Amino acid sequence: MSSLLFLHEALLSEFSLIQRYFTRATPSAVLGVGDDAALVQVGSGMELAISTDMLVSGTHFFADADPYLLGHKALAVNISDMAAMGAQPRWATLAISLPSEDEAWLEQFSAGFFSLADEYKVELIGGDTTNGPLNLSITIMGEVPQGKALRRDGAKVGDEIWVSGRLGDAALALAHIQGKIKLSDASFNATINALHRPVPRVALGLALRGIAHSAIDVSDGLLADLGHILERSHAAAAIQFAKLPVSAHLSHYLAQPLVQHCALAGGDDYELCFTAPVARHADLVKLSAQLGLPLTCIGSIVTGSGCTLRAQDGSVMKIEEAGYEHFK
Ligand code: ADP
Ligand code: MG
Repeated sequence: MSSLLFLHEALLSEFSLIQRYFTRATPSAVLGVGDDAALVQVGSGMELAISTDMLVSGTHFFADADPYLLGHKALAVNISDMAAMGAQPRWATLAISLPSEDEAWLEQFSAGFFSLADEYKVELIGGDTTNGPLNLSITIMGEVPQGKALRRDGAKVGDEIWVSGRLGDAALALAHIQGKIKLSDASFNATINALHRPVPRVALGLALRGIAHSAIDVSDGLLADLGHILERSHAAAAIQFAKLPVSAHLSHYLAQPLVQHCALAGGDDYELCFTAPVARHADLVKLSAQLGLPLTCIGSIVTGSGCTLRAQDGSVMKIEEAGYEHFK
């Protein structure tokens, strides 16, 4: 058999894989999967928000991770970036490298991916499919009215600092899986959901346009991500540990340093951390009720640099580690 024929067969199967698992109707794109590039039309007066997240087997997920949950989460973390910008997620591309043509895996992965894509009306308009170690890279695009994006550099001294949802559940479940802590079955069952099925806070991001001065999604842990806002905004933060929103599962173990670390620096929360003027406090309380999503004021933006964390008695707590950093 000539190597040319071999190549031809390989290409054929690549195309049928793309056709079978990654080609869906894309009514809101001008042109979707199948050409050299996709085409989209951005609404007039809108800016295109673009973000890429790569998930590498062994670094971001276990090689034997449930493919449905992986497809779901890979897209969820990208949609979360749109939420953090106050952008309406619209389109995505998916670059995937696969160790083999495992159809059962692809079936589940794409089902997980499209379940979330359908929920948030995100259309998969292109990508790339190659053979290699399992690796996923998604680029997501969204729309935001000109000048209205929630950026990291807009925090002002005097702003209140807010966090959505609960912090640390995902990290707590991971700590259990890694044998660092032993959770009750009830606590594990509840927190593992936060790790596997993060909920991107899109409705919140959209509602924060015109309210928040700055925003970020908490992917690497509160302290690290709030740190990015502080750096870009040339400001400091004063946080009260007792105000951190933690679930009952987490507060049960909160005396342990490991668990405090989960809440402050655990990562994988995909909640939004944002700053807003004190004058909007009541609006945010109202918004929290409207969305059925806890919004908690945890401190404020002050002059200087860095983050000061205070215990209930007013003493300054030492910040051991500020989140997950690759290459460390
Ligand atoms: P090219 O040779 O021009 O790079 P490809 O053969 O890589 O084209 O891809 C063919 C079409 O399928 C393109 O429109 C590309 O965007 C799309 N595509 C490839 N892989 C994926 C994927 N995993 N998900 C969605 N679309 C994909
Ligand atoms: Mg290609």
